[in-house]
Parts: sequence; C-alpha cells; structure tokens
Amino acid sequence: MKIALIAHDGKKADMVDFVLKRLEFFSNSNFELVATGTTGSLLKKAGVKSINTVNSGPLGGDAEIGAMVSRGDINGVIFFRDPLDKHPHDVDIAMLMRLCDVHNIPLATNYNSACAVVNYLNSITQ
Ligand code: PGA
Repeated sequence: MKIALIAHDGKKADMVDFVLKRLEFFSNSNFELVATGTTGSLLKKAGVKSINTVNSGPLGGDAEIGAMVSRGDINGVIFFRDPLDKHPHDVDIAMLMRLCDVHNIPLATNYNSACAVVNYLNSITQ
C-alpha cells in the first residue's frame, strides 16, 4: 500500500499535525509513504522516518505522483489544498485529481476527509 502526502504551504502545519497524530498508522510497515518535496522534508524533520520524496509540487511533484497513480502504484492520496491561495502549478494539481478519479483512488483534500480516507485504508488492510 502506498500513500501520497501533499500539502500546500498554507496547509503544511495541518499536514504535520495530521500525520503526527496518526504516527502509528503512518509508521505501519503495510504502508509506504511518498510526498512532494517540501511536504516530505517537513514530515521527516517532524520525525516521520520512512518517507520517499519526489520533486516539490511547483517543480513537477504533483505530476510525478499523478504518473504513479496512473501506473497503479498509489492506493490513496492525502492532499491538503489551500483554496485561498494561488498556485503556479494549478494544471498539475487538476491533473492529479483527475487521475485519482480516472483510477478510482481515494483522494482527500482537507483534514476531515483525510480522516475518512485513513479510516478506510486502515479497514481494508486489517
Ligand atoms: P511541496 O509541494 O510539498 O513541495 O510544497 C506541494 C504542492 O504545492 O503541490
């Protein structure tokens, strides 16, 4: 099981909080984690040990995760988007979300929907 973690700048603190509160789940060996560059480095600094990173979002990281989704390599995406900010890579973000829909991959775009996705992923790996 591989989970992708992405957070826009205005939501990175929420992402760190979200993951640290569920460290047991995210440290479970059933799950591999992949994150966009800056999100991943903040999570590593916060103590999440095993996390792979791709490019930063604006440099193509969301597109890389989209490619993983299209190859069937991702089982869930937690993407804390900031709807109140502008993003130079809007087209990549739209592509990633579209590919999640094409491939029926659970996608959470805010804190509470992420709780639901984590519960779902937890339930299907029991
Ligand atoms: P970042 O990318 O984790 O490298 O900041 C996230 C994004 O903006 O898509």
